[in-house]
Amino acid sequence: MTSSSTTHDARELLWKPSDSLRDANRRKIIRAVMVEPNTQVNIARFTGLSQATVSGLVNELVGENVLRVDSGGDNERGKKLRVGAVRGVAVGIEVNHNGLTVAARRVDTSSVEYETANFGAEQGDNAWVRESARLIRDLATKTGLDAEHVVSIGLGIPAAIDPRTGMVTQVASSLDWDLSGNPRHRFSDHFPHVPVIVDNEANLAAYGEYVYGAGRSVESMYFIKASTSIGSGLITNGAIYRGRHGLAGEIGHVTMDPQGTVCRCGNRGCLDTIVGGNRLVEQVRQAYTGYRVDLPTSLEGMIERAKRGDQVCTRILQDASRDIGLALARVANLLNPDIMVLGGELGRAADLLVGPATNEMQLFSLRGMYDHAAPTKLVGSELGLLAGAQGALAFALRVDSTVAV
Ligand SMILES: [Zn+2]
Repeated sequence: MTSSSTTHDARELLWKPSDSLRDANRRKIIRAVMVEPNTQVNIARFTGLSQATVSGLVNELVGENVLRVDSGGDNERGKKLRVGAVRGVAVGIEVNHNGLTVAARRVDTSSVEYETANFGAEQGDNAWVRESARLIRDLATKTGLDAEHVVSIGLGIPAAIDPRTGMVTQVASSLDWDLSGNPRHRFSDHFPHVPVIVDNEANLAAYGEYVYGAGRSVESMYFIKASTSIGSGLITNGAIYRGRHGLAGEIGHVTMDPQGTVCRCGNRGCLDTIVGGNRLVEQVRQAYTGYRVDLPTSLEGMIERAKRGDQVCTRILQDASRDIGLALARVANLLNPDIMVLGGELGRAADLLVGPATNEMQLFSLRGMYDHAAPTKLVGSELGLLAGAQGALAFALRVDSTVAV
């Protein structure tokens, strides 16, 4: 393919170096539409550009066939813009404690391909990088293109990232493999020219939920990712709030009981020690010691049993949700977000957990946010375990690495 072809190469559109403000604004609009087809009004909100600027550049981009206008809608500004004849693949990766999920999507469609892989520490420090690279190649082919067309890679890892340097400031200490240094550089052998945008995996899951899931159309959202460990992400006005060290909102290490169990972070009585996945599974095993042998070994297995009516699993999950609700009450008083979203493994049991957690949250936080026409709500995740990879994909598309660090 050449630049004279009628199909544009997304890499040329997004990567071409330019100092011109006009080119930067064009890229912002293209990126916004690649994240999600949208109206001019919403693109202006998403990019922070004026309506007039958006309108002028959109006309130009439609003329070049980079964007196209959806049929339908009452007037020109109410119609959604979609990506036109553009070739490129966007990728998002969520790395967890023992596995990863990769999402890939052609920039001109909304259908996302996923694959997951599990691995352990015995496979070496770089297993997650090798597995990610393999899945990216597979998925790019599945979209009908190939790895040469990858335009951006969003990478969510279970670690805190210093937003100013991209360096890891704190790795989840339960991790058995090395994530030290700048994780972005691990990909340079496999995809030397592709921008890799790295962030905490719960931050990116929050972003996914904000753009495509339960947080659509709200201004501020707090996302709690409750799985093996408890993570979170806070979004305000479309931006991830990270704090100085990338540790903002880390509810998993809020002290719930100063006399409680010592946590893997070195503090005592953190929420993580009470409702972390392994702790919950351990409680089931304790309750059934000597009575049953077919005990669940994972949070997933425990949730399945609760859904089939197992009273022990149900009780332990509901008690955990009350603890989560109490922790969320503190978040609610501090941040007063529009919405709270329960994601991660526990998000899959939202029908069992959101009720008791909401009761507790409301009991221990200020009434003004509930006695209101638009009360603060706690809801289950809509994207489930794909939120992290989807959010990583969207976030990397959105961030202009020729401008941002
Ligand atoms: Zn802790």
